[in-house]
Amino acid sequence: VTALLQVRDLRVGFGGGVRALAGVDLDVDRGESVAVVGESGAGKSTLALALTGLSDAPVISGSICLDGDELVGAPADRWRLMRGDRIGLAVQGSPLNPVLTLFDQIAEPLRERRGLRRRECDERVHALLEEVQLGPEVLDRYPHEVSGGQRRRAALAMALALDPDLLVLDEPTGGLDTVTAAQLSAAISGLVRERGIGLVMITHALSEAARLADRTLVLYAGQTLETGPSRFVLGDPRHPYTRDLVAAYPVMSTTRDLRPIRGTAPDPRALPAGCPFHPRCAQAVEQCRDTPVSLASPAGVPELALRRVACHLGGVVTVLEARGVSKTF
Ligand code: SF4
Ligand code: MG
Repeated sequence: VTALLQVRDLRVGFGGGVRALAGVDLDVDRGESVAVVGESGAGKSTLALALTGLSDAPVISGSICLDGDELVGAPADRWRLMRGDRIGLAVQGSPLNPVLTLFDQIAEPLRERRGLRRRECDERVHALLEEVQLGPEVLDRYPHEVSGGQRRRAALAMALALDPDLLVLDEPTGGLDTVTAAQLSAAISGLVRERGIGLVMITHALSEAARLADRTLVLYAGQTLETGPSRFVLGDPRHPYTRDLVAAYPVMSTTRDLRPIRGTAPDPRALPAGCPFHPRCAQAVEQCRDTPVSLASPAGVPELALRRVACHLGGVVTVLEARGVSKTF
């Protein structure tokens, strides 16, 4: 059985060595939510844009397969039809139209793409509002007349209007207060399950990934460094970068002992050779400087079979292991 969305070895970037994505694999099933986390510049938004045919940087190679249809290399007009119809998206920097009421923007795709008349539109828009938990009183309002949370919900309703199979959301709750963000995440995870659609969610908020996503993919310098069930990846990180990322994130750190990640995220125009994390990694060894890493399942612990890490040492090495006393992982 193949997943709804199958991304294989996706490479995106301009010439001259600038790689935004350096070979990303991603599977998303129906009813499943996958979070893509990482610092700014890791390639998260590039991935969201590539999945919707909107990336400025060209896809160099690889495959994006939605329900058996290859989308890499699809002409622009085919992508236009895919967006909305099969892939619903709410990406950063796609604000609502300020001169249209919320009703008119949610109804627009229903009129234009489905040819629905006023009454059918009304019914569909009201059903969508219910799904995203917005009251009908917002329909006559313009975007500036509603709250940030309501605007996000309206954008979500638009993304869902044409019943897509896959939803791609970039920072769906970014900028919202914690309570509003938690409510919106709950609404999103509810509708993903009820509709049985797939969700790819780009977020820098690890707490949101932990709450909403079945699986989490940790992106760094356009590469996946760790992937697996969110409760393992975020609750018990195995890759040195994931561990540092979690330790630097306020709500996730159980010790309350916040440690910012040392060093800075790499410049995509001058990525380090070998393991891209090596200049910042506390346990880097000689091999890390020149030998590229690839994802592998750490052996030994059954629970870890579901997760994969890209690290020459198999992930975080304890002090004892580092001294050569044991190497169990
Ligand atoms: Fe650190 Fe080396 Fe593992 Fe990269 S491969 S995370 S530098 S130990
Ligand atoms: Mg971004």
